[in-house]
Amino acid sequence: MGSIAGKWKARVLEAAGAVVDLVFPRHCVGCGGAVEDDVYAFMCAPCRADLYFIDGAYCRACGYPYLGMTAADRVCPNCRELRPVFERGRALLLHRGLGGRLVVELKYYKGLFLRNDLVRLIGRFGDLEVYIGDAVLVPVPLHPRKERERGFNQSRFLAGLFAAVADGAMVEDALVRTRDTDSQTRLRREERAGNVKNAFAIAPSVTIRSDKTYIVVDDVYTTGATLNACAVALLKGGVRAVRVLSLAHG
Ligand SMILES: [Zn+2]
Ligand SMILES: [Zn+2]
Repeated sequence: MGSIAGKWKARVLEAAGAVVDLVFPRHCVGCGGAVEDDVYAFMCAPCRADLYFIDGAYCRACGYPYLGMTAADRVCPNCRELRPVFERGRALLLHRGLGGRLVVELKYYKGLFLRNDLVRLIGRFGDLEVYIGDAVLVPVPLHPRKERERGFNQSRFLAGLFAAVADGAMVEDALVRTRDTDSQTRLRREERAGNVKNAFAIAPSVTIRSDKTYIVVDDVYTTGATLNACAVALLKGGVRAVRVLSLAHG
């Protein structure tokens, strides 16, 4: 009896799913076309071929891949210039193709609907569990005014998804943005560092734990200026070790 009821239940759910797909067709965030397989809900197979996973050798400091190289411990030219205070960095995708599109969906269209696809994508990276360990994940904060306008902090959303892959990891809003900085998008590399310098501080109610590694989470790593400014604030606040983690790099 139980199994027949179970089968019916499965059929009803399947039919309901088909109806939902009919009423709200699942469109690919890459091309706008219908998504026909069941692996990912909002990324069609041809567009997924346009995801550039960073899972080979990469810069130890920021996570940028060494395309075609194998030296895992080297530091990229950008990091030699930036001299980041964070000790390590990891990113999952290159910020191009569908990787760039995902960042846009999260930042400007509150891509909450991408949750399951992102969880699946994050799950591909077996090394993340060790990288995140039992760290404290700290989202790059938005200025309160901007967060009110946007109603969503994409870095906090991602931090929650990342924290779920490792036992003991937690998300804490340990930083606040003390200045409403200009958007980094239109600034040149050398202007970016000045724009975010001293823009972050430890949130007033937060107690820093000296036994924990802190990982600053952002949607995209561009020059590293924002993440480095966050790391400076955490270290000033007594954090022992800071790492960074972003969805996309480039
Ligand atoms: Zn597509
Ligand atoms: Zn680097």
